[in-house]
Amino acid sequence: MRTLDDLLREGVAGRTVLVRSDLNVPLDNGRITDDGRIRASLPTITELAAAGARVLVCAHLGRPKGQVKPEYSLAPVAERLAELLGQPVPIAPDVVGDGARATVAALSDGDVALLENVRFEPGETSKDSAELGAFADQLAALADCYVDDAFGAVHRAHASVSGVAERLPHAAGRLVLAEVDMLRRLTEDVTRPYVVVLGGSKVSDKLGVISALLGKVDRLLIGGGMCFTFLAAQGLDVGKSLLETDRVDTVRGILDDAAERGVEIALPVDVVVADAVSADATPAVVPAAAIPADRLGLDIGPETVARFAQLLGDANTVFWNGPMGVFELAQFAAGTRGVAEAIAAVDGTTVVGGGDSAAAVRLLGIGEDRFTHISTGGGASLEYLEGRVLPGLAALED
Ligand code: ADP
Ligand code: MG
Repeated sequence: MRTLDDLLREGVAGRTVLVRSDLNVPLDNGRITDDGRIRASLPTITELAAAGARVLVCAHLGRPKGQVKPEYSLAPVAERLAELLGQPVPIAPDVVGDGARATVAALSDGDVALLENVRFEPGETSKDSAELGAFADQLAALADCYVDDAFGAVHRAHASVSGVAERLPHAAGRLVLAEVDMLRRLTEDVTRPYVVVLGGSKVSDKLGVISALLGKVDRLLIGGGMCFTFLAAQGLDVGKSLLETDRVDTVRGILDDAAERGVEIALPVDVVVADAVSADATPAVVPAAAIPADRLGLDIGPETVARFAQLLGDANTVFWNGPMGVFELAQFAAGTRGVAEAIAAVDGTTVVGGGDSAAAVRLLGIGEDRFTHISTGGGASLEYLEGRVLPGLAALED
């Protein structure tokens, strides 16, 4: 893989370098609640700017689905990036239009600018290769070369990820290199027991990964929003909890497969329920088999935390992706905190992956140094561990 060092050796002074970063940070009413991904993106940007490059950063925020939605503007991110870099970071009013071209034209050597949310453009994530390619052409036309530093997006065959890499001289940035290095260690010699803990909200995103991981792990602990599809697959009533009804059959297949392989899948035995996802909802703990029809499960219960901690007790390798509950609200954060503490107490290799999971560790004050590695990418690290070819990395190979 061509790296940032190769590019720096070649010389970047005066060249416009398009840097794809992962700046997909959690926002609360336009305020950044965790800037971890911005901080993780600094080394590559700083080094390029110091070497005299004209740095044009490109990133996505949330899922605006190809439409310009002001609430997904990267403006607050540009402001924070400028503070952290200690230099101005103008944001282009669009992604590849006149505004973006004017922003590029105004760059001097060592300057940094940010393009507006790349997912405002339908071409970015398009399933139609002609549409995606046309947008990738427009992005590539803005720069002389490309650095992919967005580890959290390397599992996507998006225009700003693999598309531009195929069109411009390219290199992997510092963050991508560091993440891959770490994850490679997790796939090469795993010391058992190997326990994977999964939670979060993106059930359908993670099912494929779960099937593949069954051949590699000793135990799988499942909490978060995705546990309800699993509980439903076992025939339980999950009330108004997050449920992907069209995935229940798939999950039933996963449970059967796990049983055949002798992999233990641990599901919550109790859950914290409430009548709404709200800071003033009154939480109650109920058995997983007795979720009231009018309530939603928003966290794993204390008995489940104790059980999960026990299953993590003798682990030598742990990978964790996805919060155990809606940790953003204090009354639903105990499950995530309890499991994070149990993982932090493990003696072996512990890797946390995922934007929200990493944010949870920091927001709950667990101490980042108590984990071997905190990855910025959830989906990307899961797919890497699964052994899949990641389009963003493959595009950097040649
Ligand atoms: P990551 O970013 O670490 O990969 P995800 O994006 O998959 O994790 O999921 C994180 C989100 O999942 C959080 O915003 C959290 O509030 C939500 N979540 C966790 N548990 C539940 C639940 N029981 N119901 C609804 N949402 C949940
Ligand atoms: Mg997330």
